[in-house]
Amino acid sequence: MEGEFLETPEIVFETAEKAPSGAFSSSSAKHSLQELYTFWIFFQKISKGLAERVPARSSLASGLPQKEFLSFLVVVWVKSGGNATIVNMKKIVIGNWKMNPATLLEARKIFSKVKKTASSCKKVHTVICPPFLYLSDLASKSSKESLALGAQDTSSLESVGSYTGFLSPLMVKNIGAQYVIIGHSERRREGETDEMINKKILASLSIGLKVIFCVGEKERGHDGHFLEFVKQQIHLGLQGVSKKSLQNVLIAYEPVWAIGAENAILPRDLHQMKIYIRKVLSEFFGPSAVVKVPVIYGGTVNPENVELLLLAGEVDGFLVGRASLNPKDFSAILEVANASK
Ligand code: PEP
Repeated sequence: MEGEFLETPEIVFETAEKAPSGAFSSSSAKHSLQELYTFWIFFQKISKGLAERVPARSSLASGLPQKEFLSFLVVVWVKSGGNATIVNMKKIVIGNWKMNPATLLEARKIFSKVKKTASSCKKVHTVICPPFLYLSDLASKSSKESLALGAQDTSSLESVGSYTGFLSPLMVKNIGAQYVIIGHSERRREGETDEMINKKILASLSIGLKVIFCVGEKERGHDGHFLEFVKQQIHLGLQGVSKKSLQNVLIAYEPVWAIGAENAILPRDLHQMKIYIRKVLSEFFGPSAVVKVPVIYGGTVNPENVELLLLAGEVDGFLVGRASLNPKDFSAILEVANASK
């Protein structure tokens, strides 16, 4: 796609028009040309809205590449025989329990409370990532439709073998998990490199797991270097991933400075980053990736900030740490996501 979505990290833009429900997401709904046309009209409105709001020096002001975007939509539609994958009604909310709780009994209690809310939040796909140890027990209580399970990590070795202490993607899948978190900053902190992350992603995808790929800068300066940093993480992590497998990847943007912090990212900065990540994916995989990969946010999401992050940040969901261990807070987050358009 031609044209720069972002020229400088300083650009401030607020949400323009609301998208037709669930636009820019990733499940399999069928779409008519009429719907694509509606989507294009929406895109034009956004383009106009942004052009009025951003400074003239921004390339956004000179208009987003509307013609290219329209032809991209039509190509996607024609190639898919009229079954273009553009819209997903569901948000994705993932709880990362990390090294908690201390007992299986507590894990069961939290899980069953979350399950109640999750089963009533039909517009949300809820995933819990407990410690490995609890996965098999909770798998018997999970449900593909309303409450899925994920692992917090895996090895890069696909199946079985002489690797003491390792757990393979195949084992994770066989135990009943559908997802796996890869590249979390707490694992990167322990020495996990982009190369290791890439191997884990490839192994997990080949086994058929859905990958929650975490990226995010350690700090934000004013020089925009963090954008390049995130781009590099995406490029290195997704090397060798086919366009087809990309459908099983979610990008969890988790700025390290916002994890376990007092405050989350500002919604407008999140919105910028979401657009930037789509641009990076589009450069790397071609424009169709833009509609295939959900971009979710993680970093101090709680019941107080979730609505604003969702509305103004326009993300496709959340990766929640601390608040996912408190069923009341996590349920509140699910309900807000469920109520969003
Ligand atoms: C995380 O570690 O993935 C996370 C988002 O944590 P928290 O919500 O506690 O900031």
